[in-house]
Amino acid sequence: SLHSENAQNIVKSDRELNLSTFKGVAITDYLFQDLGKWSNAVSMECSLTGRKYTHGEIYNYSRGFAAALQQMGYEKGDTLAIALPNMPEYPIITFGAWFSRLTVTLVNPTYTPFEIGKQLADCQAKCIVTLPLFLPYILQAKSAYPFLASLKVIIIGEPQEGCHTFAEMLRVDSSSANLASSSDPDLNTEEDVILLPYSSGTTGPPKGCMLTHSNLVMNCAQTNATINALPFTDGNAQEIGLGLLPFFHIMAFQALGLITFTLGGKVLCLPRFEPETFIDCLKNNKLSIMHVVAPLFQFIISHPELTKDEFSECKTVFTGACPTSRILIDKFLEKANKPILIQEGYGMTELSPLSHMILADSKNSKVGSVGPPIPGTEVKVVCPETGKALGPKEKGEIWIKGPQVMKGYFKNEEATKATITSDGWLRTGDIGLYEEDKHFYIVDRLKELIKVKGFQVSPSELEATLRIHPAVADVAVVGVPHNELGEAPRAFVVLKSSTVSETEIADFLKDKLSSHKQLTGGVQFVEEIPKAPSGKILRRELKAAFLEGQGKA
Ligand code: AMP
Repeated sequence: SLHSENAQNIVKSDRELNLSTFKGVAITDYLFQDLGKWSNAVSMECSLTGRKYTHGEIYNYSRGFAAALQQMGYEKGDTLAIALPNMPEYPIITFGAWFSRLTVTLVNPTYTPFEIGKQLADCQAKCIVTLPLFLPYILQAKSAYPFLASLKVIIIGEPQEGCHTFAEMLRVDSSSANLASSSDPDLNTEEDVILLPYSSGTTGPPKGCMLTHSNLVMNCAQTNATINALPFTDGNAQEIGLGLLPFFHIMAFQALGLITFTLGGKVLCLPRFEPETFIDCLKNNKLSIMHVVAPLFQFIISHPELTKDEFSECKTVFTGACPTSRILIDKFLEKANKPILIQEGYGMTELSPLSHMILADSKNSKVGSVGPPIPGTEVKVVCPETGKALGPKEKGEIWIKGPQVMKGYFKNEEATKATITSDGWLRTGDIGLYEEDKHFYIVDRLKELIKVKGFQVSPSELEATLRIHPAVADVAVVGVPHNELGEAPRAFVVLKSSTVSETEIADFLKDKLSSHKQLTGGVQFVEEIPKAPSGKILRRELKAAFLEGQGKA
């Protein structure tokens, strides 16, 4: 039968992990269960200013912040947005929100008011934490969406009129506050949503991914069972990591914002990438682990000021979020001149985020693969035509089942149903295959998502925005290969009148969408957009025609 055929081709980790011990555990209890072992060690430090907090301080301040949120009247089910660059206060806000039973949504602080407003309105955020620098954009977003009229702003830094001041909130006495814990009578760790990051998934505009206590706790446990990084205890040195990948993206949020607290580690935060401050951070600190995506490898390899000395204590480099080429990794290892383990992972926001990772004992023998499924995860490669689970070396769509699969998309039953099957398989929209040794390779994307430097770009969001332009009759956006960015969005436009130029079309997005969503792949005027009878844009056809024109097909 089809069922027994499928069962044969389900791939699982060879390693055992008893996840039942984490059942019913609230995220806040999970994160701080070993706090006593490293309470006085620094956990988060700003690499620019040296401002830092110990693990114990993060715990205490987040409880103070939680008590303040409760005094302001926020309660379970309310959503708090964080629009901040990487800074040591980020976990205080996250955990404070969780201690007061709120849901957290992560906002890219460099978003335009248009983008911020859309996300805040979609998730019905009640309050937002930000810096004075971003306040004008938040206020602009607020005035554009009537729904956001009652949105409260909490400011880190210089107090601002009409806003709450973070520093004052931290000082609120939490000793008599009723804060979240695993023993809450109404806690449902499998249903209560604590994180709502946005992802466009396989199709359409960005949507809120509902992640529960269980999703995040289990995925942290699965990740900890896989990574080559150790708890700061029993004679192990403290792990020191690099906080450069943005915390508003789930990869860094989980790896640096959560895992750090389960290992007693320390993260050096960098609010943005600048060659000088990045180089200083590497020269002034001996990092033991690093999270690096493809464009950063490129920089490290090519910059003469970075030498093997900067990597003398580094034992593991984690990579993922987009393909990292073997050439980049080889050149990096050549520069570091020591056997640093490269642990590439694969996942997505909808997976809390991890499903695959290279094993800690691989000795870099599997570079190019994203590794086998992590413990507690089932994976199959499904033939898009027949729906059958395929065997080794056959390409198909990767489907995932496990405790890390999100509950669904917020207020979007239709997208949820299209993404998670009735028996719990999440369709990733990625094309891949596995070898007999259970190692997976990502080879292509079935879904329309574009990834620019690892950042999500939703073509339908760009198309919807371009359609506002009076001269645009029809438009399709696809991702085309790009040397530095990985992929770049390119627009194919049918005009109503021929009086506008390609540059005018590209410039139309400048003040509406953030930098990675700009048309860096170019604009091309066409007679018509190829579509299926259903009206669906035939993106692969457009991309293939473009590549053929470039001689790259
Ligand atoms: P996000 O939700 O932003 O993390 O994006 C998830 C998507 O990023 C996946 O569905 C893949 O298309 C892509 N991705 C993540 N990790 C990798 C990887 N190691 N190699 C190739 N693509 C990846």
